[in-house]
Amino acid sequence: MSRIDLHLHTTHSDGSLRPSDVLALAKQANVSALAITDHDITTGIPEAMAAGQELGIEVIPGVEISSFDGKSELHILGYCVNWNEAAFNQRLARLRESRHRRNPLILERLREAGLDVTYDEVCALAGTESVGRPHIAQLLMQKKYVNSAKEAFDRYLAEGKPAYVARELPTPAEAISWIREAKGVAVLAHPTWVKESGEGLRTCVKALKEAGLGGVEVHYSTHTKSQTSQYLELARQLDLLVTGGSDFHGVTKPDIDVGNGRGDLKVNPRLLLPLKEAAARL
Ligand code: AMP
Ligand code: ZN
Ligand code: FE
Ligand code: FE
Repeated sequence: MSRIDLHLHTTHSDGSLRPSDVLALAKQANVSALAITDHDITTGIPEAMAAGQELGIEVIPGVEISSFDGKSELHILGYCVNWNEAAFNQRLARLRESRHRRNPLILERLREAGLDVTYDEVCALAGTESVGRPHIAQLLMQKKYVNSAKEAFDRYLAEGKPAYVARELPTPAEAISWIREAKGVAVLAHPTWVKESGEGLRTCVKALKEAGLGGVEVHYSTHTKSQTSQYLELARQLDLLVTGGSDFHGVTKPDIDVGNGRGDLKVNPRLLLPLKEAAARL
């Protein structure tokens, strides 16, 4: 049985593989349709679509936008977006600028901690406009300050660690409205990032729905069985679409494979049609 994977990163943001290489891995994993969801950028989509045509894999244009609701950093995925629309790409460019304002401050803190690293080195390694903390983690790995991206986050980059610097982020409602304006379906990524549970989680997702959210990423590499069933029930109760994906990044998340997540992810291709139908209604 084939599967789909609606959450993938490439070298156009903080993934370590080019779109065509991600598509080649998807082919091996028997993925029939996928979405490229790079952070704040859509430039990887044409290469993915070309590779998809060659390999017989349907490519859904996507994006992932980070937002902050005052308590939790929430990532909003956008599917079937008009990815080459000028207004939408201008919004994304502004988000990338906010990364470029924050990142040098992170590098300053790393130097204060005694590490010999510069933002120019990070940008050279990243080779994209959408530079994120995983690129900084990659530089720390290259320079042998850490053995893994996880160690880079645990020791320096994660919230509460010495080199953490917050970024100006849009609200979830803003991210959702930008995606909707570009005729895309907005979906809450990895809902475990909501720092609320039970009724609080429900209230939060309900508010997102009122802001235009269309779905929840129920199936995700790191979800336990009980999280998956909890989010499935939540989506059902709130009448939201169900999506799923691996959040493949390559080297910075080496335990996660395209299509398979940590080995047991298997997103049903039947979830794709309702998503496409919802986008067609926008
Ligand atoms: P940024 O967008 O620059 O704030 O970086 C956030 C990204 O870093 C997330 O989207 C994840 O892909 C990645 N990330 C966050 N925490 C970790 C971690 N502990 N290990 C590896 N990657 C992480
Ligand atoms: Zn990422
Ligand atoms: Fe994310
Ligand atoms: Fe992601």
